[in-house]
Amino acid sequence: MQMLVSGTWQESTSGRTEEVTSPFDGHVVDVVPVATAKDALAALDRAEVGARIQRTLPAHARADILLRAAALADERAEDIAQTITAETGKPITEARGEAGRAGAIIRLAAYEGTQLYGDTLPLDANPGTGQDKIGFTLRQPCGIIVAITPFNYPSLLVLHKIAPALAAGNAVVLKPARTTPLTALKLAACFVDAGLAPEALSVVTGSGGELGDVLVSDPRVRKVSFTGSTATGTRIASIAGVKKLSLELGASCPVIILPDADIELAATAVAAGGYINAGQVCISVQRVLVDRRVEADFLDALVPMVKAIEVGDPTSASTRLGSLISTTEAERVERSIAAARDSGARVLTGGERSGAVLQPAVLADVDPASPFSQDELFGPAVAVSRADDLGAAIALANDSAYGLGAGIFTSDVAGAVRAMRQIDAGNVHINWTPLWRADLMPYGGLKGSGIGKEGIRSAVQEMTEEKTVVLHGRPW
Ligand code: NAP
Repeated sequence: MQMLVSGTWQESTSGRTEEVTSPFDGHVVDVVPVATAKDALAALDRAEVGARIQRTLPAHARADILLRAAALADERAEDIAQTITAETGKPITEARGEAGRAGAIIRLAAYEGTQLYGDTLPLDANPGTGQDKIGFTLRQPCGIIVAITPFNYPSLLVLHKIAPALAAGNAVVLKPARTTPLTALKLAACFVDAGLAPEALSVVTGSGGELGDVLVSDPRVRKVSFTGSTATGTRIASIAGVKKLSLELGASCPVIILPDADIELAATAVAAGGYINAGQVCISVQRVLVDRRVEADFLDALVPMVKAIEVGDPTSASTRLGSLISTTEAERVERSIAAARDSGARVLTGGERSGAVLQPAVLADVDPASPFSQDELFGPAVAVSRADDLGAAIALANDSAYGLGAGIFTSDVAGAVRAMRQIDAGNVHINWTPLWRADLMPYGGLKGSGIGKEGIRSAVQEMTEEKTVVLHGRPW
């Protein structure tokens, strides 16, 4: 598939291409161009024109284009799902769920892009100011937005950037993950075919290491919206210069289980939230902090559920866990499990690897201060550690460089209220794990998990600028 620069499907100026392969069985899914810095700059040149066109389009016209794109995404959902599975190794059932949200996300953005309200300012409350002045705020698009996305949700995370950006009247240059460019290109085609101004959207495929600095540091870019690792986000923040930044970064999400919890519910939710997408989710359950009085009951419920997860060919409808994104990644997670075992953790099930496929694992007696708890795992395993009481569990939950999502299982409202107040995470779930997201809700992390919020309404807000206008009349 060719990349998209300003409405034209084209090769790289270097002529270089690379294969996109299935991490499950290695088959070549397609071939894409490897863009150069020159291609990235050409995309930004065209985006300058695109930003001017987009800015003059009335909101209802932008919404019409997005609604047509949403209908196309609905029509093409099965092809998008097959593409997701082929390039990520994600089970087709999960990929269908992800692709099935595409149209709804774009429709939500179409609506939010028409809701750019401002405020009237009570300027006469300012001492010395009379009623002869009127002040108000106006929202306008940022201009050019660079969007950089990771591999793990190649449809969802691309759309959470390009749909609100376009709805709000910006031009976008997207750099999708090198392992998953095809889904991004197919989504971009929906917008092109819906009649978007060609200059308003480019998708450059290739290496983030090579294209990232060019895109991120260019002074014409007003906003960088990045989702990916904390290491890459830190680099972006250091070179971006004076720009708006949204950084959706890594995590090690905790779940607390109290003695009064519904243990069956907690085990069911952890058996999903730790293993969906092979644990390659920023809001995956990584650290389970269980009250020592119910630890044995919880593990007795959890382990058979994890053992029952069907692992295998991602194209089969019954598979619940496919491959990780690469054999290298599966080897890294395998090594982390082995290191935790060597430090005294008990591997109750899983951890065996074949290629990029890793059997889902549960580890108990994990030291909460160990790398297995502290470092982002991004694989199909959970670390179970004991806590003495709610206060100790909250302290352990907060003992992390990250703060993206958290969950607590309890039937006591007082405990739930204390947890929602005291846990330092951008999203806190009561009686579910952090692995839950509605596309409309504000979504983003604290601490090392990032800055800014996504979720369509929040993204539209962050992808627009607020201007204050004062009309000076004369005293009468
Ligand atoms: P990654 O290695 O940081 O890559 C993310 C994107 O950044 C890719 O498109 C990558 O391109 C690009 N990139 C690499 N180096 C760059 C540079 N120097 N400048 C600019 N861009 C650069 O992350 P990943 O492994 O794909 O994704 C996993 C990470 O994403 C995890 O840490 C996960 O927690 C995080 N994540 C966070 C959220 C959230 O909402 N907080 C959601 C999903 C994922 P290449 O692919 O070409 O290297």
